Amino acid sequence: MEQSNRPGRCDSCCRISHVLLKVSLGHDFFDRSYTRLSAVDDQTPRWYCEECSREKDYQRDVRAIREEFLRLKSGEESVMGDQATFLRARNRVLEIDHQVKKGRSPHVILSPRDVALLLMDLDSWAEEHGWIG
Ligand SMILES: [Zn+2]
Repeated sequence: MEQSNRPGRCDSCCRISHVLLKVSLGHDFFDRSYTRLSAVDDQTPRWYCEECSREKDYQRDVRAIREEFLRLKSGEESVMGDQATFLRARNRVLEIDHQVKKGRSPHVILSPRDVALLLMDLDSWAEEHGWIG
């Protein structure tokens, strides 16, 4: 993650921050290269304060996990068809759920409600399939 050397305004929450981070998305939760970054985003990089860049990371993981989970549910081939990978993803969502609940509000990037709903869906799927007690 690239860091700016002078204070500026966060592109997400618009607060002035003494540290700004340029989000480079790199790899997603499943260690695949992240393809969502369009050419336009690359040309006009956005800078985020520490809180927002953390939320941005959460958002990236939640998106990747939700997409894979939808594939799994609809019977498509999915990396989450593997129990260990599924549980690792579920634990990541649990961790994010804790973080966004205790975090600031309002959340500008990630909705705590969306995270909570995903976690509930994951848990009920895992219970149905006997993957968690
Ligand atoms: Zn911010």
